Formats: sequence, C-alpha cells, structure tokens
Amino acid sequence: MRIRTQCRACGLPFRAVISPRMASLPCPGCEVERQLARHGWREGPAGQVDCCPLCECKHFYEQKDVHRAWGCTLVALGAALAPWTWGISLIVVVAIDWWLARRLKMATVCYRCDTVYRDAQPQPNQGEFDLLKHDVMKYGKSWEDAKRE
Ligand SMILES: [Zn+2]
Ligand SMILES: [Zn+2]
Repeated sequence: MRIRTQCRACGLPFRAVISPRMASLPCPGCEVERQLARHGWREGPAGQVDCCPLCECKHFYEQKDVHRAWGCTLVALGAALAPWTWGISLIVVVAIDWWLARRLKMATVCYRCDTVYRDAQPQPNQGEFDLLKHDVMKYGKSWEDAKRE
C-alpha cells in the first residue's frame, strides 16, 4: 500500500510503502518510528482501509490522488507555448488535464492524521471531506459542542 504521510516528530511529509509484515514505519528524516497496526486494512487491487494503521482512527474521506499544482503547471506551459503553436498546445494540455482528472483514482485519507492511502478504494461510508467531522477527529471537539455552536 502506497501512502503519503507526515512525521509527527519532525513534521516532514514523506511517501512510503507499507505492508502487513511491517511492525512500524520509520521517518526518513528523524528516524522516529510509528507503530503500524496490521488489522483494519487490506492491500491489493481492491485495497481498503477501515481503521488507520498509523493512528487507529476509523474515519476517512475520499480525495483524488493528484497534485493540483502539477495540473496548473501543465496548463501554464501550454499557455506559454501557445504563440508558437497557434494555440494548439493549449488545447492539448487542457485535453491531457481533462483525461488525467477522469482517469485518476480516488484515494482514502485519514481524518485524524491526514495520511493518504493511495492504493485504497474509498468505501461507501468514506465520502467527501466534511469539515465538522475533521474538527471532531482532529481537535477532539465532540458532536455535542458542534451542535451548540
Ligand atoms: Zn521525522
Ligand atoms: Zn490516521
């Protein structure tokens, strides 16, 4: 399972590949290890995460596995080349961008530790990002507090 996560000790964001055989995930920057749970997630083409192996949170949202900045760079490049290509480059990059957006897989993201599980398919209960749920998971606000506000 390919993941993108951030070290809690030094704040370094990094990519890693986790497997059920690993007991912990070391940070490439400061080498602080985080425990990896073996249960609650599955690898493979139909991979899924029900319980975050890094923080044991059971709440996830779905997100397109894409770097927005990359798409913007592409369009900017197409625009920059447009005067020399009679605008064809612009049409091409817009087409590529559209094709990428349609082809891109969805990834599952943990509400609590923001780890992106790039090979996990979002489950029906793992829908769009919900800010209220995010605050509850992250800052320990309870549903009751949120209702009162
Ligand atoms: Zn670190
Ligand atoms: Zn987590």
